[in-house]
Amino acid sequence: MERDREIQRMKLEKLKTVASMEACYQGFDPVAYLHYNYTPPRADFERRSSIVPWKLSCLHKAFTEDDIRGDILVDVGSGPTLYQVMSGCERFDRVILSDFLEVNRRELQSWLQEGKSSIDWTAYFKYVCELEGRSSSAWAEKATRLRSVVSDVLPVDVHQSFPLSPEFLPPSGADCLVSSFCLESVSHDLLSFNHALGHISSLLKKGGYLLLIGALGESFYMGAPGLYIPVVPLDESQVCASLKASGYELLQLCIYHLPPDMKVGVDDVTGVFFAKAKKT
Ligand code: SAM
Repeated sequence: MERDREIQRMKLEKLKTVASMEACYQGFDPVAYLHYNYTPPRADFERRSSIVPWKLSCLHKAFTEDDIRGDILVDVGSGPTLYQVMSGCERFDRVILSDFLEVNRRELQSWLQEGKSSIDWTAYFKYVCELEGRSSSAWAEKATRLRSVVSDVLPVDVHQSFPLSPEFLPPSGADCLVSSFCLESVSHDLLSFNHALGHISSLLKKGGYLLLIGALGESFYMGAPGLYIPVVPLDESQVCASLKASGYELLQLCIYHLPPDMKVGVDDVTGVFFAKAKKT
């Protein structure tokens, strides 16, 4: 048992460089990832203490409390998921989704163009409608709204100094960035995480908002059956320091502590942070 753990630890250590991170993402399976993280118990809309309703509430509050709105919202490292833009899509004229992997961009395009996806997003749309004070039956309207405002699903690489192709953004940058569980899960150490945070900041205009969601205390997650992807284990103070060092004013930091029944064996995350910050 101890030996197996040591072998696992050594394998994860070996994977910790940008190139090997990139290589291990080649085995990422969007369908498995969605099932691990975006079905019950993690997405149980009957329980407010379930992790997905918590994330959706944080996003909803972040946009409404300061009435954040504008022309362009960019989601960095969307993966195969849509939940992170379900509130923002009502407040921006254009939403840009992005991911490093074509397989994830295809999953998103398939929902946008043909309404097909590997999981059913209906309950998510209904939940966000309710947060907005609308009837859950307005979910189809919200889905139509999201489809109509997503202008592009682009390749992104947070290890590049300007992670997106520049022609998709005005020179001043986007009005708002969202990024969830991306930076810490694609960086091999804290320095690389800090660089990635600096790189995505180049996409945001001065005075723009960053809504950053991420894992705390996580050393790996499963990107497919048997595929252990290394993660930088962050703590709360590192998140605050990294944001400050990248030129952000931290406006809000909320922490979710994982209850035992959310620990479903697909990662070793202990908590989740939600940070709202303004680029100074
Ligand atoms: N945002 C989604 C969520 O909230 O579940 C997905 C997060 S998933 C843990 C990490 C994502 O980062 C994957 O979709 C992966 O393809 C993407 N990724 C991998 N390497 C990347 C890179 N160099 N730059 C940007 N994104 C990358």
